[in-house]
Amino acid sequence: MEQTLSIIKPDGVGRALIGEVIKRFEANDIKIVAMKMVHMSKQQAEGFYAVHRERPFFNSLTDFMCSGPAVVMVLEGENVIARNRDLMGATNYEEAAAGTIRKDFATSIERNIVHGSDAPETAAFEIGYFFNAFEIMS
Ligand code: GDP
Repeated sequence: MEQTLSIIKPDGVGRALIGEVIKRFEANDIKIVAMKMVHMSKQQAEGFYAVHRERPFFNSLTDFMCSGPAVVMVLEGENVIARNRDLMGATNYEEAAAGTIRKDFATSIERNIVHGSDAPETAAFEIGYFFNAFEIMS
């Protein structure tokens, strides 16, 4: 069993897509084992995306991530890191496959509705960033 961190970003929450995203996880045999709503500070968003510190879009991305509430979740299942990435679609929604969350709902490369960890090491860091062990119903 693998775990990954999912975030419904402020655009997804603002556009009332929480249920839509969760429905896709549950319909694909992905279990939600932790969930909460957070309104990140700029500093928390910068810490979360620290790997992107040098990217030209870092300031804009972290402004966006703290622009409103987000839903953070721990997902669990076999191969769930890759399976969640498949359901999300490519970072750039214009290149995302048909039927993916980003293809269906994203409005820009930045405002792409969902985040998902991309590897076991990043999943461990990102889950620990938002949840302690007692909050995860594994
Ligand atoms: P992800 O793993 O698919 O989310 O993609 P990355 O880790 O490469 O980027 C993190 C997030 O930064 C993306 O989900 C987008 O919200 C944002 N992002 C990525 N590339 C760009 C870009 O070229 N411009 C802007 N403004 N935002 C970007």
